[in-house]
Amino acid sequence: MTGHADEHERTMAFAEIALGQIKALRQPATPRNYEIWYAYATGYQPSLNQKVNELLQRGGSLSDADLDQIYQEHLSPTRLSDRIDTVGSQVMGEIEQVMAMIDAAAGSANSYTESLADMSEKIGNSKDREGLRAIVETLVQTAKEMEVSNQKLEERLNASKQEITELQENLEAVRTESLTDPLTQLANRKFFDTSLEHAIADARAKNEPLSLMMTDIDHFKNFNDSFGHLTGDQVLRLVAMSVKQNVKGQDTAARYGGEEFAIILPNTVLRSAITVADHIRRAVMTKELMKRSTGEHLGRVTISIGVATLRKGDSIQTLIERTDTCLYAAKRHGRNRVMCETDPEVAGGAAAAQVA
Ligand code: GH3
Ligand code: MG
Ligand code: MG
Repeated sequence: MTGHADEHERTMAFAEIALGQIKALRQPATPRNYEIWYAYATGYQPSLNQKVNELLQRGGSLSDADLDQIYQEHLSPTRLSDRIDTVGSQVMGEIEQVMAMIDAAAGSANSYTESLADMSEKIGNSKDREGLRAIVETLVQTAKEMEVSNQKLEERLNASKQEITELQENLEAVRTESLTDPLTQLANRKFFDTSLEHAIADARAKNEPLSLMMTDIDHFKNFNDSFGHLTGDQVLRLVAMSVKQNVKGQDTAARYGGEEFAIILPNTVLRSAITVADHIRRAVMTKELMKRSTGEHLGRVTISIGVATLRKGDSIQTLIERTDTCLYAAKRHGRNRVMCETDPEVAGGAAAAQVA
């Protein structure tokens, strides 16, 4: 349902805003400036928008240095691949240092063993008390040096352990970000695809039910046309929040496409999934929308939902297709409703579609 045309229209709206800003502020239309204003138009990074707004309020325009700074602070460092590379090279640096420390420790352990062997030979040859005392003193001295170097190694290893734990956390944060939809903070399509694969395997292994739900906003194009894509994006956030608030921890709620969400419900039979779907549907339809900046009332939006449950011979694809068929049926039968595969209307619709 998420057509190429929708994406085109949505991104063109952002592009127009970006170019409009560049023109209005008479800035060079370089890729860097375009990227800044495009990011500004999407509103995905509130901190970037805040910074731009502050600078605009102060001086009415942005200097080249301002743009440079914004790019460095908000866009360049957020490139995931750059950040992964940074964490990767930090890990490599840390490993190199630890290896060098271990090499040095192995070297001093070797020379300790050698000096012990040397001492034991000297003890064998020693004839008097004074000679023996000197040997023992050297032994004690060498043992002390060894202790100091062991202690240093231990401290360095502990510091490295802490550093590596922090790097692991960084990496985890980058990974989470790469699987999160920036607009809604729900899981993205990539995460959804792997989650569904795991959920199906899990359901089969445990012999548990699994349901899938797909939602689509009703007449959303009209909403965008009336109030603009940026306001439409806020509505998407609101729908995402309604979804999030009505699912449990084990469920995966994801942004499946532009204005479509998919929710994986492990260990959930069809009937329970329908109940969840209806809660989400009601939560969305009862929200009175208002444009925060102007206080303008925007009315309400509704959503349609399709629900299906895993069958024996299902693949990921067939389960998604059946859920989508139910969603289409909900649209066909008047929208703002939940339909599932046992509804006679859906069965009829699917059969008709097959004949056609
Ligand atoms: P219906 O689903 O009820 O049949 O009608 P619709 O108008 O919602 O049709 P469709 O589901 O095909 O709508 C897609 C529209 O959703 C087109 C586009 O304007 C809007 N849309 C898709 N993704 C986004 C997005 O990320 N942001 C905004 N603001 N709008 C989006
Ligand atoms: Mg759609
Ligand atoms: Mg729609």
